[in-house]
Amino acid sequence: MASFKSKILEIVDETPRVKLFRLERPADFVFSPGQFIMASIEGLYTRENILVKRSYSIASTPSDNDFLELCVSRADNGLFSGALHSLKKGDYVNIQGPYGVFSLRRPVPENVTFIAGGSGIAPIRSMLRSLLMEKDAPSKIRLFYGFRAPSDFIYRKELQEFSKRLIIAAAIDSPAEGWNGEVGFISDVIQRHVNYERSDSYVCGPPPMVNATIKSLISLGFDERRIYREQW
Ligand SMILES: Cc1cc2nc3c(=O)[nH]c(=O)nc-3n(C[C@H](O)[C@H](O)[C@H](O)COP(=O)(O)OP(=O)(O)OC[C@H]3O[C@@H](n4cnc5c(N)ncnc54)[C@H](O)[C@@H]3O)c2cc1C
Repeated sequence: MASFKSKILEIVDETPRVKLFRLERPADFVFSPGQFIMASIEGLYTRENILVKRSYSIASTPSDNDFLELCVSRADNGLFSGALHSLKKGDYVNIQGPYGVFSLRRPVPENVTFIAGGSGIAPIRSMLRSLLMEKDAPSKIRLFYGFRAPSDFIYRKELQEFSKRLIIAAAIDSPAEGWNGEVGFISDVIQRHVNYERSDSYVCGPPPMVNATIKSLISLGFDERRIYREQW
């Protein structure tokens, strides 16, 4: 486990609520796609005088040698996400990690299904990009991605580019003008698209979305032992 101070190299306003933070990555920092880090900011303490630490999935891939990317949604009145969103390029964040067991299982089977809700796309994006870079990439990769409104579509451009190489269904919760993708909760959208196949599945998002999605996959015949989850 590593612990280091990392300079913010770049900040991208990805959606109205989400910023992407590119952070300096030490040469010897090793992680698996899907893992997360713990972040803290010097001087940011709770009222009880405890250093505030929060977990964030690494959205970049191990082969992005020069940086770590975090995809951070600003929570309403969120202590840490609010503070992070107010930092500027050149400021520092303290990082510890990597942590977690939500990562690609090897060997990777022919079919892999990813299902993300909101900022839950962060670890999934790392896994997807890593898989697509491999020369023996699985023959069928599917991504189901749900979010509230069209403006909440994180990594939209990149995922649309990926769509030449994988099957993507993006869904918003309720109809919106100009949106011609899917509408409805992603757990229901899966039901319209998937017939059971042997597949490893990775689900990440808010707990209600993760629970509903896993129920939905099981009802389609997916093997619960091959469904991996992360939630926050
Ligand atoms: C493994 C893991 C990976 C994660 N990866 C990501 C990621 O990639 N991207 C991401 O955006 N997030 C991620 N998270 C979530 C992240 O760790 C934080 O929980 C999130 O950013 C909110 O932290 P915060 O300090 O901003 O909000 P907090 O201050 O912790 O508040 C969270 C919410 O609770 C409300 N709240 C706080 N106190 C009270 C109270 N007393 N009563 C009622 N409501 C209250 C706040 O208004 C806010 O809406 C991950 C979490 C885990 C566990």
